[in-house]
Amino acid sequence: MGKCLIIGCGGVAGVAIHKCCQNSEVFEEICIASRTKSKCDALKEKLQPTTRTKIHTAQVDADHVEELIELINKFKPDVVLNLALPYQDLTIMDACLATKTHYVDTANYEPLDTAKFEYKWQWDYRERFEKAGITALLGSGFDPGVTGVFSAYAMKHEFDEIHTIDILDANAGDHGYPFATNFNPEINIREVSANGSYWENGKWIETKPMEIKRVYNFPEIGEKEMYLLHHEELESLGLNIKGIQRIRFFMTFGQSYLTHLKCLENVGMTSIEPIEFEGKQIVPLQFLKAVLPDPATLGPRTKGKTNIGCIFRGIKDGKEKNYYLYNVCDHQECYREVGSQAISYTTGVPAMIGASMLMTGTWKGPGVFNIEEFDPDPFMDALNKWGLPWQESHNPELVD
Ligand code: NDP
Repeated sequence: MGKCLIIGCGGVAGVAIHKCCQNSEVFEEICIASRTKSKCDALKEKLQPTTRTKIHTAQVDADHVEELIELINKFKPDVVLNLALPYQDLTIMDACLATKTHYVDTANYEPLDTAKFEYKWQWDYRERFEKAGITALLGSGFDPGVTGVFSAYAMKHEFDEIHTIDILDANAGDHGYPFATNFNPEINIREVSANGSYWENGKWIETKPMEIKRVYNFPEIGEKEMYLLHHEELESLGLNIKGIQRIRFFMTFGQSYLTHLKCLENVGMTSIEPIEFEGKQIVPLQFLKAVLPDPATLGPRTKGKTNIGCIFRGIKDGKEKNYYLYNVCDHQECYREVGSQAISYTTGVPAMIGASMLMTGTWKGPGVFNIEEFDPDPFMDALNKWGLPWQESHNPELVD
């Protein structure tokens, strides 16, 4: 069907690339391009003998628009799938505009110096993408990503009005380390050490980090403590699910993780303010990332399951109704299939599906879109087909 340029070759990209190679009908050719080309070459060597997809590799520094434009002009992809870090979103979008190529990512743009988790910088590209006749699909991971698709599906098939959404993200995986993060540590720690917030009646209610805690009995996982966080999809769902009154996001954390995080915070290691060290400016959080286990190495050690989903409350045919859509994913099964744990898997699979929606023209329309703005049905089918089957409950336990 076409060609996809994948930027980044970390945990999430590794899974997405495996999945593109399983879906050779759509992904006839891919180019894996990252800062460290040796990682791309190693993956190509492993996967090329197993797939009909033709794999190319390239070195690129995605902070530089000119380098990206040169690579895109050379490979001529139909879609660029950005699986580098949120800092590169805008340079990659600029290169897509210059070359009139569709764009997909899994995380909103962030400036290096502030942790904001806001879409405003990328939404500013709407008019330019419309004029160029190309599509940007924002947030095609799990959360954001599948959570938006679940919301659009619930709105389309289960409700006349949705009043509240609680997004619950549980990881009952155990990697055996006292402290490690399941995806890029810098992004993960920025997310959990920021203030929490939720959307209620058209405005943000801010909380201190980890101020709101609940216990929830997750299907197939059991009881877990979870904490309210700010999360980027609250912003787009607040606008796109008409009539919504409240949206919250909760994530589970174990006591050991929280104790370590508090200590690292107290000594200043989670700061994103640069400091001078031996004559050089360093960002403490980036240094911390360098000493923590690489999330890509957690795969063989992690046992247990994840459960991520959305609980909806609203009205159907004049009656109040509750509905829960979720996916359960097993770390060890993911590792057996693609060599990584479930956190990368649950992000990499929807990233491949999002790119395939644009490659096949199933989703189209020039502009910049969040995932819940498209028809959820083909994506829901693809989740079942490509390894993230969803389950539903019409009588879920609710979160107070
Ligand atoms: P990793 O740190 O494992 O991988 C990032 C990759 O990007 C690395 O290969 C890195 O190269 C590459 N990279 C970084 N900077 C550049 C650059 N300037 N130019 C080219 N390549 C670059 O991160 P993850 O795979 O864990 O995460 C990838 C993305 O997925 C992140 O944006 C993250 O926020 C997002 N994510 C989204 C989730 C969701 O559900 N929506 C969940 C989890 C993650 P190098 O190897 O040289 O360092």
